Parts: sequence; structure tokens; C-alpha cells
Amino acid sequence: MNQIPLVDLHAQYEEIKDEMYKLWDEIFESMYLYLGPNVKSFEKEFALFNHVKHCVGVGSGTEAVHFALRALGIGEGDEVIAPSHTFFATIEAIIHAGAYPVLLDIDPKWYILSPEAVSNYIERYCSKEKNVLKDKKTGKILKAILPVHIYGHTADMDTFKDIANEYNLAVIEDAAQAHGAEYKGEKAGALGDIAAFSFYFSKNLGAFGEGGAVTTNNDEYAKRVRRLREHGQKDKYHHQSIGYNSRLDELQAAVLRCKLKLLKKWNDRRREVASFYNDALQDLPVKIPAEAEWAHHVYYLYVIRSEERDELFGYLKDRGIGCGIHYPIPCHLQEAMKRYKYKNGDLPETEKTAKEVLSLPMHPHLSEDDTSYVVETIREFYK
Ligand SMILES: *Cc1c(COP(=O)(O)O)cnc(C)c1O
Repeated sequence: MNQIPLVDLHAQYEEIKDEMYKLWDEIFESMYLYLGPNVKSFEKEFALFNHVKHCVGVGSGTEAVHFALRALGIGEGDEVIAPSHTFFATIEAIIHAGAYPVLLDIDPKWYILSPEAVSNYIERYCSKEKNVLKDKKTGKILKAILPVHIYGHTADMDTFKDIANEYNLAVIEDAAQAHGAEYKGEKAGALGDIAAFSFYFSKNLGAFGEGGAVTTNNDEYAKRVRRLREHGQKDKYHHQSIGYNSRLDELQAAVLRCKLKLLKKWNDRRREVASFYNDALQDLPVKIPAEAEWAHHVYYLYVIRSEERDELFGYLKDRGIGCGIHYPIPCHLQEAMKRYKYKNGDLPETEKTAKEVLSLPMHPHLSEDDTSYVVETIREFYK
């Protein structure tokens, strides 16, 4: 039976291993393991790739979101608007920063935080009090909007920036799924006040371990993130604030430098696969992913929607096709979120989406045989 994995890391390894081992050899020979030449070079190269002034490598994507929030001074008594339809880390980061997560619904066209939902919430619950936006429902101060470029499709950033300008809020991008994605020709990571990337192994740009980065055009925010990742140090053993131990390590930075050179090629191949799937599935009773005119989708995940999702998932799995569900339980309904008192029915689009989404195999090394087999098997299911 064919076995088609959801992601194929070994194929990535084959492409980079000669260069990677050369860099790793230099690292082990010099034993420069701590914020060394590879981290510095990667930060420069990734900033250049995104056309953004600063990139700061950190320990994970979760910490990248957390540090981005803290760099903006967001903490206790504040709140942040985010989508419930995201990986849970987005929400954890808000809570780690000490802020309150206001979770809102998505636009089902792209599964991204709905700008209308954000405006409606602000108009209904928030009022200006002495230069701040007070939320009467929670008693907190609304400070930022945190859209997630979910699945590799960028959010409608101009609309979010308009809302942010009107109410004096910050816009933070969770770009953990959007390396190389674009909005009106500009790269994710350069679109808001500050952005967070993850280099979790399965992401479009993934380490062979943990890693993340914060990008921003703001000098002060970048400086703060550099301090936060290293115990609040300004200089060695001079601790200006209480920070964390959350650095990108040299070995992972070397992996990322090798993979970054291939990212555009790999993303282009993902788009080719997506285009093949789109054509081959469009006459079936599934919803294929849409791409807004502003977006350059990089298909971290290729997500279809089906009312028979669970049956289809089982059918594909039994035939060797690695599928996923991203994500089966919305964040606002997670057990860990009990104290925020969200309930079933609060976010109807998000809740319906969670029941219907299905991620098909998507990675740059899928062959034509692989994708044809996936499509034929889905067609068979609907026969
Ligand atoms: C992967 C991911 C994160 C967290 O990244 P880690 O590197 O796993 O900590 C945050 N937000 C989103 C949307 C993600 O997909």
C-alpha cells in the first residue's frame, strides 16, 4: 500500500546535509555553541529575506509570541484580541505575558481572525478612557490585535492596521505558519509592529529541534527581545529585568541557514501541489482553500473542508494517506481555558470549522504519483 506522510523531513535532510554537516563541523571544532556566528548570520539572513530591520532568534515560536507581547509592554491588566482558531501556543503566550486573551471568531473564507468581529467587539464593549481603551466586559485595557496567518495565508493586514490606528492599538503577527507568505507583495513578519515565527520541525522553515524568532522594524522592541531571551541581561551579568533562558542555538541556526536558501523553492513547490489539488478536487463536495487577492499563500497546510470529515479522515488513513486536523478543539473550549468562561456557541464559525477541516499531505517533496493517489482516493470516497 502507498504510504504518504503529512510531512517529509528526511527529504529535506537529504537536500541540506552536505552543507549542514560542514557548518556543524565548524561549530564542534570551535565549540562556539552560544549565540555564535550561525545565530548572528541567520538573524541577518532571515531579516533580509523578510525585508525587516531586526530578527532575534529565540528558543521557540511560543516564546517568540510571548516576547513580542512583552517587548510592546503588554502584561498584567491588559488584554489582547486573538483568534480562537489557532494552535494553542498563540493563546498560551498571551497568558504567559500576564494578559487576558479575548478570543474572537474567524472569517470562514480564509479561517483567519475576522476584522469585522474585532471592530464589532471594540464598538460593543470598549470605550476610550484617558488615552486607553477600556473593556467594560473584562475590566482590562485592550492593547493589541494578534492575527494569525493560519495555514500560510496572510491576514488582511491593512484592515487590521486601520482598526489599530483608530483605537491606538498594536498589531502583532503570529507568522509561525507563514515563512515566505506575502501580503500585497510584502513578507509576513514585516507587516505589523512586531512578528513571531516558529521553527518547529514541521513548519515551512523548520529546525531539527526547537527554535523561533521575533522580527520587527523597531529598534527598541528588538533590544527588549534580545534582553528577554538572555535573563534580562544588558551586558554579561548585568540584569536589567527579569528575563528567560530562551535562545536559538547554534546547531539549529546552522540548519535554518541551509534551509532558508531553499525556502522559496520549497514554497513554490507547495503552491504547485496546492494548485494540482485545487483543480482535481473542485468538482467534489469539499471546500478547497481560497487565496485572497492580497495574499501569497505558502500552504504550511493544505486544508479542505468536508461535512463528512471524520469518515473521510478514516478512509484516507486506512489507505496510507497521512492526514491531520488543524485544529479539532477551538482554543476557547479547551479545558485549560475554563477560568475565562467561554462556552460552546460563542464563536460559531470557529466551532463549525473545527468539525469540518482536514489537512491533506502537503510538503515540497510530494511526487506526482503521491498527489494523484491522494486525489484518486478522495474521489473514490465520494463515488
Ligand atoms: C507552531 C505554532 C506556534 C508555536 O511554535 P513553537 O515553536 O512550537 O513553540 C505558535 N503559533 C502558531 C500559529 C503555530 O502554528
